[in-house]
Amino acid sequence: MTIGEALHQAAECLTQQSIDDAYLEADILLRHALGLTRAQLYARVTDEAPSAKLDSFHQMLDRRLRHEPTPHIVGHKEFFDLDFYVDRRVLIPRPETELLVERAIDIAQRRWAGACLITDIGTGSGAIAVSLAVHLPQASIFAIDPARDALEVASINCARHAVEDRVKLLLSDTVLALPEPVHLMVANLPYVKDDDLPTLAPEIREWEPLEALAGGPDGLGKIRRFLSEAGARLHADGVILVEMNPEQAQPLTAFARRLFPQAAIRVETDLAHLDRMVVIEVGRMKGHDL
Ligand code: GLN
Repeated sequence: MTIGEALHQAAECLTQQSIDDAYLEADILLRHALGLTRAQLYARVTDEAPSAKLDSFHQMLDRRLRHEPTPHIVGHKEFFDLDFYVDRRVLIPRPETELLVERAIDIAQRRWAGACLITDIGTGSGAIAVSLAVHLPQASIFAIDPARDALEVASINCARHAVEDRVKLLLSDTVLALPEPVHLMVANLPYVKDDDLPTLAPEIREWEPLEALAGGPDGLGKIRRFLSEAGARLHADGVILVEMNPEQAQPLTAFARRLFPQAAIRVETDLAHLDRMVVIEVGRMKGHDL
């Protein structure tokens, strides 16, 4: 069987199982099995696939057909153009979270070009904290997570991207653990409603840590707690970025407005044009944008 045929056949199998992005997923698995870059793979579609590698590819495909997420099978996931190690201990970084990173970089560069202290609360794999450290050489980042398991993964990713000196890992469930006030807080906390948990795809429900997803009855339990404590560890001109589900935009901005009545608060949409993030500029008066 040629490489091209193997790819096509795998994509068909995945499609039949209603797995999204079947071609892309088959491509990632096949490249992993063959140890090829995307360009190499497409240059060799008419080559015969070595049979030992084809066997291992088919084993991976079986795992994927049983709904194991591709990043778990290949052991990594790309996020913000960086490669992160992931496993069952952490939530797989999502593309929509890149918005949070992009905005955080933008704000930090404009406001605190000298030195900047940032916290990533609920860091998980460390994808946000590490991306910020890579793109903001002037920043020091406290990456907080209540799960020791998750911090082990974050630590692997800090080492992988050589930012251990500027990303400090803190085992805690609260920003009150911060040793000093920070300029910028970035939060991708669990925000899935309890009632929605059983409706999540099996890839998520059966393979990703529930505690990284479950946000209580309205999904906002952990975010509310974080925001209530945030003011105590934020500089007077600080900024908070919070990822959310689109339907949480109204209750979340209303809650933030009560906590930070003077702040400029706005909602930003992701690439799918869904409300995805609340930006709270604590030190900026209402009506004045960046
Ligand atoms: N976007 C994630 C999902 O539903 C949820 C992430 C989160 O709770 N922080 O797959």
